[in-house]
Amino acid sequence: MERDKRRTIGVDKDDVLVDLNTSLQRFHNEQYGTSFVLDDVYSFNLWEIWQCSYEEAVGRVIAYYKSGEMKRVLPMEGAVEAMEILKQKFDLVIITSRPKEFTAETLYTTEKYFPDCFSAIYHTNLLVADWKTKRKKSEICLEQGVDTLIDDSLDNVRDCALVGIKTLLYRRPWNLSAPDELLMQEGIMPVKSWQEIVDCLLSKGFFVN
Ligand SMILES: [Mg+2]
Repeated sequence: MERDKRRTIGVDKDDVLVDLNTSLQRFHNEQYGTSFVLDDVYSFNLWEIWQCSYEEAVGRVIAYYKSGEMKRVLPMEGAVEAMEILKQKFDLVIITSRPKEFTAETLYTTEKYFPDCFSAIYHTNLLVADWKTKRKKSEICLEQGVDTLIDDSLDNVRDCALVGIKTLLYRRPWNLSAPDELLMQEGIMPVKSWQEIVDCLLSKGFFVN
């Protein structure tokens, strides 16, 4: 019988495992008197959505991180069921851009919704002031032997695809600018749901090419 080595799948946390952006926009609306909904977030660059400076946008995201709201985010539709299926066949790790100082919040919802699914959580520290602690997801994937990354950031999937890591881009309002055809040419698989992700990862051909 053919025996596969267990492959390692890297899964992004925000807007892939949990619906962070709905919570973040709600917080923003309450704090700054705006009325954004998820479909308004057409860009990953929140300063373009909120019409403020980069520094101001980072400050607002950090304020959200510190507010405690992050502990109340809900899982993305189908994510809990998908992890139960995928953990049978793969080693799963979380690779998040959240700063490491918010590990407690990250652990809280991971253990609440995805207990015993992930063997490690890696942080790229995207928004911290100390640039020396920032990392690329491709560095973590190569260092940890991650075969495949599931992420909603175009930058992250492109970064990983360029070094030969298989990538799935979870379609969200802020990553629709790149058409499916272009992504496929770049070696990136666009996906619209967790059901599609599971079907893709379990299909016979996915790890062949
Ligand atoms: Mg994300």
